[in-house]
Amino acid sequence: MQTPVPHIVEVAIPLPLEGSFHYLVPARLSPQVASGKRVLVPFGRRKVTGYLLGDTDAPGAGELKEVLDILDEEPLFTASELDFYRWIAGYYLHPLGEVIKMALPAGINLVSRYRCEQGEDGTPVLKEFLAGGRNVRTERYFLPVADEERRPRGKGLEILEYLLEIGECPAADLRKRFGNCTPQLNRLVQLGCARVEAREVYRDPFRSQEYQHDGPLPLNLAQSESLTRLTAAIEASAFSPFLLHGVTGSGKTEVYLQSIAVALAAGRSALVMVPEIALTPQLVGRFKRRFDCGIAVLHSGLSDGERYDEWRRIRRGEASIVIGARSALFAPLTEVGVIVVDEEHEGSYKQSEGVRYNARDLALVRGKLAGAVVILGSATPLVTSYHAAMNGKLGYLQLPDRVRELPMPQTEMLDARRQKGEVFLPPLIEAMGENLDNGGQTLLFLNRRGFATYLVCESCGHVLRCPNCEVTLTFHRLKGKHVCHYCDFSMLPPKNCPHCGDGEITLLGRGTERVEEQVQQLFPHARVSRMDRDTTRGKGGHARVLKELEEGEVDILIGTQMIAKGHDFHGVTLVGVLSADASLNLPDFRSAERTFQLVTQVMGRAGRGDKPGRVLVQTLAPEHYALTRAVSHDFQGFYQEEIAFREEVGYPPFAHLASLTLSAVAASQGEHSADEAAALLQKIKRECRLRVEVLGPVTAPLGKVRGRFRWQILLKGRERADLHRLLFHFRGGFSHPSTVRLTIDVDPVDML
Ligand code: ADP
Ligand code: ZN
Repeated sequence: MQTPVPHIVEVAIPLPLEGSFHYLVPARLSPQVASGKRVLVPFGRRKVTGYLLGDTDAPGAGELKEVLDILDEEPLFTASELDFYRWIAGYYLHPLGEVIKMALPAGINLVSRYRCEQGEDGTPVLKEFLAGGRNVRTERYFLPVADEERRPRGKGLEILEYLLEIGECPAADLRKRFGNCTPQLNRLVQLGCARVEAREVYRDPFRSQEYQHDGPLPLNLAQSESLTRLTAAIEASAFSPFLLHGVTGSGKTEVYLQSIAVALAAGRSALVMVPEIALTPQLVGRFKRRFDCGIAVLHSGLSDGERYDEWRRIRRGEASIVIGARSALFAPLTEVGVIVVDEEHEGSYKQSEGVRYNARDLALVRGKLAGAVVILGSATPLVTSYHAAMNGKLGYLQLPDRVRELPMPQTEMLDARRQKGEVFLPPLIEAMGENLDNGGQTLLFLNRRGFATYLVCESCGHVLRCPNCEVTLTFHRLKGKHVCHYCDFSMLPPKNCPHCGDGEITLLGRGTERVEEQVQQLFPHARVSRMDRDTTRGKGGHARVLKELEEGEVDILIGTQMIAKGHDFHGVTLVGVLSADASLNLPDFRSAERTFQLVTQVMGRAGRGDKPGRVLVQTLAPEHYALTRAVSHDFQGFYQEEIAFREEVGYPPFAHLASLTLSAVAASQGEHSADEAAALLQKIKRECRLRVEVLGPVTAPLGKVRGRFRWQILLKGRERADLHRLLFHFRGGFSHPSTVRLTIDVDPVDML
């Protein structure tokens, strides 16, 4: 009798382990095997879900464990998607199983349930079914009743004080903060100290609306030249990357829309990525009005179940256009003809945890694998992108002017030196008053949130820092406390300096709250609103503030980064930049680039309507090129200075970077591992003769986060291949105690 050939499969497991694993397939499951399905496999003493990669004929079948079950009827990913995942795993040095898990919608695992069913041959088998169909949920909110005399004790009192401090809180958050506190909450309600409200926590702002169809706009010359080149590339059906460089309001989105129409007409699909913050109903509305094909929108407000629904719509071919933030990169579209990365310079395309991919970079990889046209759009392209365009690696398309010949805003720099403590310099106050009288809206932009950025002792200069994270503490008036932005540490304001004992602690820097206070003092009749993480927390908060602005219910809006991006408000005629400097002082080689981008973006908010805009930039560094060039709308000039700096010190695009972070609770242990890592890197570098600089280890700029001490090693290589060989060998050869954490970040964006 002939022994049957064993059926062996390769499985990727979503655990931080290198390589893939082999399993035997029992005869009963063999017919169901297909690459892209999930399997249940024994792993150590556990059972885990893995991803079937394909058949293999690896030897040693006798040793292999058996696949327990196959969990999907249909594959979740295709062969070409697997190629993409493999590419990502290799490039970012991350286990393939974890890459696949990240790429698939979280909803899959959360809504999967298994039950035993009788199989055809009589044996029980595990079958997956999807649990639940509930989409819209309500959440219970607790609100304090301020004037109630009766008070609870102990934990109940703590909760009440917290509620009084923050105004209201969902039950789930209270439980996160105070542990199980159901009895205390019930007691609060019973005493009349608090009341409960049920609120709908999620409403899809994009689904419900009806859209009136519109057609393409007649293009101006620059737009139509761009479209001509894009059309030719789309019709050629080959990978072709472009940089679309156009000032805000120059009509880039119109070019995206019309390019996508070309791709759809050719039977292909389109993927549009925008920073989460720019994913507004306005933008989605423009697509829905223009196209009557299926459009899927992936935004962070979706529950896992809803995300999974969208994913399945796309997989089934019911949507030909996908609009979304970073993770939309993994949308299971087939036949992609155009990939748009709007605001390509945005740091938020980089995922900062887990698989540290950059969706902007990977859009190019996906485009290459799919033979698609990739459009990177920005008013302030990355210095590296512009360099690539100048060297012919990206096609360069330019929209130099605003449509409808709107003039660029008139901009002035105000020197804030020797004006200690003044929130507003006189010319800005004057401009605000004038704008108010003329019925215009004003945006005031500043970089940080909270009441003040720094707390400094007037006599010894001591700065109050978080004992856990070493970052400066921020005063929050609502909480009445000094709070750390990285961990939850907070403290009451000290009367005297804890360092020298007699100096007075002063608030330095300006926070949105303090600015709001000042504005109200200066203009008591103005309608002032504030947009930052504190006021827009929770679903819809952000959209609500923007809507108020759009509908003219706000005269002056104060905000952080959030107001800088992509919004198009016709009533805004004055923009004041209050703290252009904060981002200049970050310990990061991109600080100048970031500042230039930020100031330019904020400036772009002025005069989007019929009236011309005006911009005033208050700064302590009025001579810095990032600011002078931004203010004079001079991208070229900025680029020239910045690229010279990059070349001189060997930063991208003249070098490729990777950073290694090692962290441990015990400082000595972390330091020891970091030294060993650096020594191993040096050794590999010597032995393989790799041209890579190994810098460090140094204590990370945020030396201690959430109780762990951190060290960083920075790798700089002229050749990407050298850098990758070094990392590859290092990862294979480095061992460290399990209490030390190692993360590798290829092409790091944030060096903190
Ligand atoms: P960007 O994406 O570069 O900021 P948009 O595409 O949003 O620019 O265009 C800015 C405004 O100008 C929008 O209101 C848009 O409808 C309008 N617009 C764009 N192209 C044209 C055109 N060719 N003719 C008239 N209006 C246009
Ligand atoms: Zn902290």
